[in-house]
Amino acid sequence: MTDVIVIGCGVIGAALAYRLSQYKLKVLVLEKQNDVAMGATRANSAIIHAGFDPEPGTLMAKLNVQGSNMARTLCEKLSVPYLNNGALVLGFDKEEELTLNKLYERGIKNGVEGLSLLDGEQTRAMEPHVSREVTLSLYAPTSAIVDPWEYALAFAEVAKTNGVDFRFEQEVTAIEKTAFGYTVITRKGRYDTRFVVNCAGVASDTVHDMVAPKSFTIRPVRGDYCVLDKNENSKAHCTLFQCPSKSGKGVLVTPTVHGNLLVGPNAVPCEDKFRVNTTADGIDFVKRMALRSVPDVDFRSTIRSYAGMRANHDRDDFIIEFAAPAFLDIAGIKSPGLSAAPAIALEALKLLEGVGLPMERNPSATDERKKLRFRNMTVEERQRAISENPLYGRVICRCETVTEAEILGAIHSPLTPHSIDGIKRRAGSGMGRCQGGFCSPKIVELLARELGISPLEVLKDGAGSYILDSETKDGEKANEL
Ligand SMILES: Cc1cc2nc3c(=O)[nH]c(=O)nc-3n(C[C@H](O)[C@H](O)[C@H](O)COP(=O)(O)OP(=O)(O)OC[C@H]3O[C@@H](n4cnc5c(N)ncnc54)[C@H](O)[C@@H]3O)c2cc1C
Repeated sequence: MTDVIVIGCGVIGAALAYRLSQYKLKVLVLEKQNDVAMGATRANSAIIHAGFDPEPGTLMAKLNVQGSNMARTLCEKLSVPYLNNGALVLGFDKEEELTLNKLYERGIKNGVEGLSLLDGEQTRAMEPHVSREVTLSLYAPTSAIVDPWEYALAFAEVAKTNGVDFRFEQEVTAIEKTAFGYTVITRKGRYDTRFVVNCAGVASDTVHDMVAPKSFTIRPVRGDYCVLDKNENSKAHCTLFQCPSKSGKGVLVTPTVHGNLLVGPNAVPCEDKFRVNTTADGIDFVKRMALRSVPDVDFRSTIRSYAGMRANHDRDDFIIEFAAPAFLDIAGIKSPGLSAAPAIALEALKLLEGVGLPMERNPSATDERKKLRFRNMTVEERQRAISENPLYGRVICRCETVTEAEILGAIHSPLTPHSIDGIKRRAGSGMGRCQGGFCSPKIVELLARELGISPLEVLKDGAGSYILDSETKDGEKANEL
C-alpha cells in the first residue's frame, strides 16, 4: 500500500513529489502522458512572476511571492536555467497609468521588493526598443525567467532518485473510497493508498468529481506564442508586460533562458481543454499586440509557435483544499502557478501533515541535482570534459551545441524519455534555428540503440506520435514520412 498517490506530473505534482521524497513515505505518481511536464507546464511564458498581480490576501498572492523567493536557490540546487532579468509593465495612456499605480500598491501589499514606477524616458533608457508611446511603467526587479519543463523534470528526477515511483501513460479514470483510504484506478492497474493529491491541471475538476460533489469547473483559456531566433534576443532584456486584464496578464515580449525572444500569449476561452493547437488568428493577434510594446520585433525570425491551456476556473483563487477525507485538491492552478509551485508543494505538505500523514525525515534523501551543459562550459572545461569522455567532442545539435554525451545522459537520466521531445526537454537539443532538422535523425538512432528498440518505435512526442513509417527492404534505413 502506498502512503500518497499524486495524480498528474506537471510542475505542481513534480514539486510535491520532490518535497514528499524528503520523508520516509511510499509515494506513487500517476501521469496520463508519457513524460513529465506535458500539460501547461511545458507551454507557458516561463516567468517567475514577482507577485504584484494577484489580489492581496489570496493564496495566489502569498504563494506567488513565496515561490518566487525560493526559485533562485532551488534552480541553483537543481541545475535549472534561471535568470533574474526583471520585468516592466508598460502603460500607454492615463487609464493604464492608473492600473500601474494600482499594481504598484498591490505589489507593496503582497510584499514584493524593489518595485518602482518609471516614466517613458526612464523606461526606454532601460529598454531602448520599447515603444515611444509608453508613458509610464512598473519595474519589478525580482521577476525572473526559467526553463519551466526543466524545473518540473528536476523536481521529478530528484524524487525518483529518492525512491518515488513514477508511472506514465496511466490516466486515472476512477477512484474508490476504501476503509484505509482510496483505490485509484487507471486502465493499467488499481493502486491502494492512504492519501491522494489531485494535481491534474486542466482535468483537476474531472478528478475532483471522482470523489466529491462538483465544487468548481475548469474554464480553459488557450494562449498562443511565437518563439523568435536568437538574433532578435536584444529587443528585450527585461520581461515586457502590457497591463493585465481579467483573462490574463496580456501579451508580453521577453527573452528566454535559452537566449530566444518569446512573444505571447492571447487569451481564448476554449471548449476542448486538451486541444492546444495554435490558430492563424491567434498568432496574428499576438504579433500585433507585441508590436505595440516593441515596434521593431522582426517576425520573419519566428522559429516556432505553440499554445498552452490555462486551468482558469469559476473561483477566484488557487484551490488547495480537501475535497474529501485524505483527498487533497491542488486544482485550478492557473498563472502564477509555475512561480508558486515550490510554495504550493510546501503548503500541501503542511495540510497533509495536519490530517495525519507521518512526516519522518529520510536522512539519505537528496534535494540536489547536478547537470553539466557543454554550451555553458569554458574552453578549459570543455577540453577537460572531452578528455574524460570523448563523446563531449561530438556535437549532435549544432544550433544549440548539444553533445552526444549529453544526449546519452538524457536517455539514461532517472526518468527515461522515449521521444525526441523528451530528449529536447532534458538536453536542449532541437531548440534552435533548425528546430531539430539536423539532429533528430541522429537522436532517433541513439534512442533506438540505447533503449534496444526499433527506430520505428521512437516517438516525436506523446504516445502514438511515430515519425518513421517503415524500414526499406534491406533493413538499413527507415523511410521518413
Ligand atoms: C498560456 C499560459 C501562460 C502561463 N504563464 C505563466 C508564467 O509565465 N508564470 C507562471 O508562474 N505561470 C504561468 N502559467 C501557469 C502555469 O503554467 C501553471 O500554473 C502550471 O504549469 C500548472 O501546473 P500543473 O502541474 O497544475 O498543471 P499541468 O502542467 O497541466 O500538469 C497536469 C498534469 O496532470 C496530468 N493529468 C491530467 N488528468 C490526469 C488523469 N486523469 N490522470 C493522470 N494524470 C492526469 C496531465 O497530463 C498533466 O501532465 C501559464 C499558463 C499558461 C497556459
